[in-house]
Amino acid sequence: MRVLLVEDDPMIGDSLRKGLRAEGFTVDWVRDGRAAELALETTNYALVLLDLGLPKKDGLTVLRGWRQRELAVPVLILTARDAVPDRVEGLDSGADDYLVKPFDLAELLARMRALLRRQAGRTRDSIEVGALRLDPVAHTVEYRGQPAQLSAREFALLHALVEASNAVMSREQLEDRLYGWGEEVESNAIEVHVHNLRRKLSAQLIRTVRGIGYRLGDTA
Ligand code: CA
Repeated sequence: MRVLLVEDDPMIGDSLRKGLRAEGFTVDWVRDGRAAELALETTNYALVLLDLGLPKKDGLTVLRGWRQRELAVPVLILTARDAVPDRVEGLDSGADDYLVKPFDLAELLARMRALLRRQAGRTRDSIEVGALRLDPVAHTVEYRGQPAQLSAREFALLHALVEASNAVMSREQLEDRLYGWGEEVESNAIEVHVHNLRRKLSAQLIRTVRGIGYRLGDTA
């Protein structure tokens, strides 16, 4: 899942990016309010982690702008401003949740999972399609009752195809889902992930649509 991290503190930003990547998230990190606005105009994110005290444009102003434009992306505010009026203002401005610094990565991940579940309108974590069962929060996959060990990117690719249901996703769309800005993408990266998924799960699970891309195949 691709998330936008908006944080101007280099140490906090760096450690969050590392921690989230280790959990399999694709993370784009921006350091000011204007860059955050730009990022959301050009990229689809599953979730935004938003600091409030930011250069160029304050986090609350950025958030209000998104909500005025009816952008529904879940936003979790991360800030040192722990006074009650600040928290209330953050939530009233359209934040979905609020975490006061310093916080534990485990708590942040738990809140992110809760928001992602709520966004998906599900009370449970897992998605089932045929004999395929996928838990986007715990990053686990079972096929025909057998758990499979997937890399973070293999998982992200499979998740993208499941979400697309029967629609075809192009290689570019998949790269966009799997890789953050500035990350090196080998030209055959998607083909390699597809090959590995077929090998680990089933050769029929992913269909190649020649000249267009990939879609979910036989999940029985
Ligand atoms: Ca800050």
